[in-house]
Amino acid sequence: MPGQLHQHDSGWYATLCEVHVQPPHRWPACPWPGWALLYARLITNLVRVDEDLVVDEVEVRDGELRVEVRASDEARMPAVMRLIAGVEDAALMTCVVCGAETDVPHEPVPPLCPEHC
Ligand SMILES: [Zn+2]
Repeated sequence: MPGQLHQHDSGWYATLCEVHVQPPHRWPACPWPGWALLYARLITNLVRVDEDLVVDEVEVRDGELRVEVRASDEARMPAVMRLIAGVEDAALMTCVVCGAETDVPHEPVPPLCPEHC
C-alpha cells in the first residue's frame, strides 16, 4: 500500500519509498512450516506454466490447504488448476510441522505425523 509513514529528520510523513511502491507480496507466506517444500515446489511449477501468475490467497480451511491464483491468461488456467489440486491433495497427507508423509486426518484438523500428534 503506497503512502506509508516513514521517519525523516523533520518527523513522520507519508511518502512513496522503494519498498512500498512494490506490489504486495506476490507469493503469500506458506501457512505451515511442514508445507513449505510443497508450496515452494508449487510456485516453481506455476511460474513455469505462467510466469506472470499471481497467488491471491493461501489459507487453511478446515485443515485443508486452499490456494487462489490469478493466471495472466485464461488458457493456462487448466494446467494451473491441476498443479494446485495436486498440492492441495498432497498437503492433506503432509505433517504441518515437519513435512513427513502422514494419514489424512478424519476430522477437519491439520494433518500431523505420529511424532507430532
Ligand atoms: Zn511431523
